[in-house]
Amino acid sequence: MQRYWNLVGFLGLVGLLVAANATLAHSEEPRVARVLTQHEQEALTPEEVSQLLRTGNQRFMSGTLTSRDHSAQVREAAGGQFPKAIVLSCVDSRVPVEDVFDLGIGDIFVARVAGNFENTDILGSMEFATKISGAKLILVLGHEDCGAVKAAIDQAQLGNITAMLENIKPAVEALSSYKGDQTSANPEFVHRVAEKNVRLSIRDIRERSPILKGMEDEGQIKIIGALYDMNSGAVEFLD
Ligand SMILES: [Zn+2]
Repeated sequence: MQRYWNLVGFLGLVGLLVAANATLAHSEEPRVARVLTQHEQEALTPEEVSQLLRTGNQRFMSGTLTSRDHSAQVREAAGGQFPKAIVLSCVDSRVPVEDVFDLGIGDIFVARVAGNFENTDILGSMEFATKISGAKLILVLGHEDCGAVKAAIDQAQLGNITAMLENIKPAVEALSSYKGDQTSANPEFVHRVAEKNVRLSIRDIRERSPILKGMEDEGQIKIIGALYDMNSGAVEFLD
């Protein structure tokens, strides 16, 4: 008899947990732990995608990341991809781009180069992501304490790094009238150059890609910038 009541109690507890879970699932924002479909991609506006990245970053910061079945998603995504955005990021290992926005397989294209600047290959990748594959947003994501930005400030020279840093130099030169220590030892100056570098990348994307500029002018996509702070996990979107 005692065992019977234990069983009843146990089943009751299970029932309560299931009910609590269901309530939780209904009260919270719906979690999309599956791959985006073409229909869902088409229905999104550039502004909505921008908002999704912001709320995803808030979940990342609060430690409430969406749980994903990656092996199932790999199989689900194998037939095609309909990502909502393309992010141009630095190669820095402390910037896990998908995680930062609580996104997973099939959600975003990610282009990476030290110092997150655009060039012909990156522009071609962006045109592919948007014009061909339907992504609605281009995000240039710089970050604080960027080694490439610091190296450009210090005019570092080594192998192919020298030529690569030339792409970041315009941001350093744009701040030549900065009052204060213009070296990589000054975190405020490094921050200013990183932000300028993002803004110049956005300007150059518009100037060097008539396709992307045209899509933006027609409201089909948005091109925006942001800086990631690895101390807090926050993404600060630039106006
Ligand atoms: Zn970097």
